Amino acid sequence: MFQFFGKLTNEFLINGNSALFNNFKQDSIFKLSEFIDFVSPFYCVQFDKVLYQSFEKNNLELFTSIIKAPQLFNPTDVNLVFKSLTNLLNSKISEIDQIRNEIENEESNYDEDSIKDIIGIVKRNFPNNFLNLLPTYFQSQILKIATSINRLSNAIWDAFETTVVSYELTGYLITLNIDGLDRPTFENNYKIIKKRHDDKTEQKKNAPLLKKWANVLLEIRELIKRTDDKKIKGVVGFASLNNLFDINELNALPSFANEIRSQIAFSIRSLSISMWNKHNDIKNSIGTIKLAMKINVSADDSLKFKQDFEELTELEKKYRGVLICHFCEKNTPDEDAKISKTMYKETSRTYFPRRVQFSYVDVEIPRCNSCKQIHSQGGGQKSLSMVIGAGVGVIIGAIADEHFIIGGLLGLGIGWLVGSSQASGTYSNHKIKDDSSDSIAAHPILRSRFAEGWTFSKPSA
Ligand SMILES: [Zn+2]
Repeated sequence: MFQFFGKLTNEFLINGNSALFNNFKQDSIFKLSEFIDFVSPFYCVQFDKVLYQSFEKNNLELFTSIIKAPQLFNPTDVNLVFKSLTNLLNSKISEIDQIRNEIENEESNYDEDSIKDIIGIVKRNFPNNFLNLLPTYFQSQILKIATSINRLSNAIWDAFETTVVSYELTGYLITLNIDGLDRPTFENNYKIIKKRHDDKTEQKKNAPLLKKWANVLLEIRELIKRTDDKKIKGVVGFASLNNLFDINELNALPSFANEIRSQIAFSIRSLSISMWNKHNDIKNSIGTIKLAMKINVSADDSLKFKQDFEELTELEKKYRGVLICHFCEKNTPDEDAKISKTMYKETSRTYFPRRVQFSYVDVEIPRCNSCKQIHSQGGGQKSLSMVIGAGVGVIIGAIADEHFIIGGLLGLGIGWLVGSSQASGTYSNHKIKDDSSDSIAAHPILRSRFAEGWTFSKPSA
């Protein structure tokens, strides 16, 4: 016992040789209050000094030994024992608060790049492997440290673009032994910052991909503008839209693309609306909204597209023949391709004197340009065949026995038959209806007129 005491006094209490702490053993003498009373004043001074030095010199092994060594001081002396380390930590807190103040007051010299050095400064000022060994005496000071780091993190978050510093700082401060009551606040804060940091990192990583889809979005907006301005027709808009992007590729993008995916879907919906509003183009309007429906969007958005689709389908049913060319049942009618027909309806007829009164109306049958072309091609075939037939008939009639009139009429009839058959071949090749009165009479908008007694032939007296 006295041997140990001699060693303690000589090596530690007087010379401050801290190596002693490495092989400190529990001894029954430490429990004697007389011994503690005697040794405490010396012990406090040396303990305080060695604890401070080991922290300053980053000597974790020595720091650990001291903290775990027998506490040979009176409980009333606790402030003396931890005085230097407490002061040191306070000065480090002030240093961090100073940096924060400068950032808040826009007086800081840090820039986007050098602000990252703060992470190292904070970790060096408050090494968690040291601080987490400290006794509960330091609890309030640990909280002060955590609060100081947290405020610095917030200031950096507000003043700089980078999120990595705040993310690292808040992540670091929760590795400290913060008291249970204050812990959730810091942890929540960390979660929020981590989420934003992760989002930003993900966005940065995917920037080139997002740019590509942002361009697709711009192209669609251009299509909408051109459709609104009647520079392009629905059919062109729809074809351009389909060539613009691969829907499977868009749908396969991960959740970071949700926003752009939704924007693209809504732009396509606007294009569909524009095709309908500006061009009455039901067919391409429906085709376009169907494309929007194929894009993976939220359930709410998806429902909107479905409603649009249903409304358009209703309109299509209601205005069949007006909104889609009656002859091909495929294309949108074109303004300059419509067929004008006069219809008549007898209003009164008298026999003495023989007189008929009637009213008439010019009706317009919507038709597409393509059908107009094919009809005129068919009409041409018919005329040509009749001219050739009549010519050949006249010649044969004249040569045979001078009945060139009969020959001509026969030839005309044969020509008409041949031409009609050629024309109907042309129509069936193109899968369209002919433009005869019978065919036109079957048009949905004329059916009711026929039912009311209207005809294509002018009533004669
Ligand atoms: Zn047509």
